[in-house]
Amino acid sequence: MDALAFFAEIHKEATKASPTSTHKAIMQLAKYFRLRRNYTMNVDGLHRDTGLTTWRHSIGHDSETLHNRRQSGEDFSGANGMVVEMHGNIREVVCEECGHVSIVDAAVLKKFSASKVCFSDLCAIISVSMLIQCSMQVVHCSKCEAKGKDGVLRFRMLLYDDSQQDLVVDDFIELGQLDDDLSGADAILWMGISFEQSASTELFKEVSRSLKECGSQGNLTSIR
Ligand SMILES: [Zn+2]
Repeated sequence: MDALAFFAEIHKEATKASPTSTHKAIMQLAKYFRLRRNYTMNVDGLHRDTGLTTWRHSIGHDSETLHNRRQSGEDFSGANGMVVEMHGNIREVVCEECGHVSIVDAAVLKKFSASKVCFSDLCAIISVSMLIQCSMQVVHCSKCEAKGKDGVLRFRMLLYDDSQQDLVVDDFIELGQLDDDLSGADAILWMGISFEQSASTELFKEVSRSLKECGSQGNLTSIR
């Protein structure tokens, strides 16, 4: 199966699913103003179904500009969404050209679902993430088309060794927000994480480092 068609299947499963009791518990914490932020590595977007708002950040290609913005002391605390989607959200697509993010609609999903594996010599030797870029199976960005440009859509979901990571997430700004949140946290709850996967252990190390730096007394609590 083509990668995009496979992701389209994941999208269908995610949008058919219902929030768990854990999602609902997080929502309750927010409702009673006990939640500072929810950082999730899930891409299913189920938190949105509970009514939790999504933390937004600017998305761009130019990491140097973003770095300069952070260095200049720009305040990122204006983003008041409750959930930081650290690995993106499969319910959204992003344009590789202009970075515009939009919800996956039925027409786009249908095109992705109809994607077929490309057997060109190029695609046969490159990775799954590069398969997305094959010109034989692209879905074009309407914003770019209106300007005569040739933008291509992809799911806003982080892949392993993703060459377009900047389109999906922004580490500089996210980690800045994480530092701010941790500096005032009374406790950090780790939910549904086995710590058997590298991204989760890296996040744990990042949180530990940040807590140490800000001198926070936050307790690290894991709930399975
Ligand atoms: Zn575009």
